[in-house]
Amino acid sequence: MKRKKWMEYVLMWVMVLAAVWLLFWYLEDNKKTGNLFRYSEESEEFRKMELSEAILDQMEELEEQTGYSLGEQIAVFLPVFRFRMVGNEQEMTQETLEKWDLFYTERKRERFLKLKESCCAIWDDLQCFPVENGEKKMTFENSWMFPRTYGGERGHEGTDLMPPKNLRDYYRIVSMTDGVVEQVGWLEKGGWRIGIRSEHGGYFYYAHLSSYAKEFQIGEKVEAGDLLGYMGDTGYGTEEDTKGKFDVHLHLGIYIQTERKEELSINPYWILRFLAKKAEA
Ligand SMILES: [Zn+2]
Repeated sequence: MKRKKWMEYVLMWVMVLAAVWLLFWYLEDNKKTGNLFRYSEESEEFRKMELSEAILDQMEELEEQTGYSLGEQIAVFLPVFRFRMVGNEQEMTQETLEKWDLFYTERKRERFLKLKESCCAIWDDLQCFPVENGEKKMTFENSWMFPRTYGGERGHEGTDLMPPKNLRDYYRIVSMTDGVVEQVGWLEKGGWRIGIRSEHGGYFYYAHLSSYAKEFQIGEKVEAGDLLGYMGDTGYGTEEDTKGKFDVHLHLGIYIQTERKEELSINPYWILRFLAKKAEA
């Protein structure tokens, strides 16, 4: 009799613990699903696009192992890590990648595919550092959303690549991706600019050029590495060819289209670091 009571007691506790464990896993999974909706491409976390070299190294290895592109991997890991990737890279394995890809695809397909589209637009066409042989020479810092005052107070929506010498018409700007010329010509803030739409839908914006490589037509195809023009200091004026209002540099912007926004800027800083490192290798 006594023995039976004791057995019941143990059984009860096993069941309680199992229930707690199941609940815990259920809530954990739901949190990770919830992250897909709590954050989005429009969130600050996403637009910072902070991916350290250590993370990207691991992702490139995973790309070889699994065939998942960088964009596809980022789409999976962003919601898993609450859109904060840095510091979480130890959990990035083939197993977690495949598990969560399946999980999101089955449970929240529509939202997940949109996120994946955005990640691939940013990451999957990148081939070249935008200044020819400039990966060691250019200096650039993470000036994402630093205040700018020309044309009203605003945040800096790009990265400025500063050359070693303040020389216009000298440094060669090349396309980072294959794509199509979508915009070309004068802009008050951007000066002589050119915008290339890449194959996965990212928009790569090169501003303040001193001159173009040729007379580009809208809709014209370009390949990664093609010369677009030369670095300059044009812009900050309504009159065409205004120059000299700041030092020679390339302003690089990356934009995507989302469900709600026609044009949403993404921080290019970590992407440029990634491309600079690739070019050096
Ligand atoms: Zn800039």
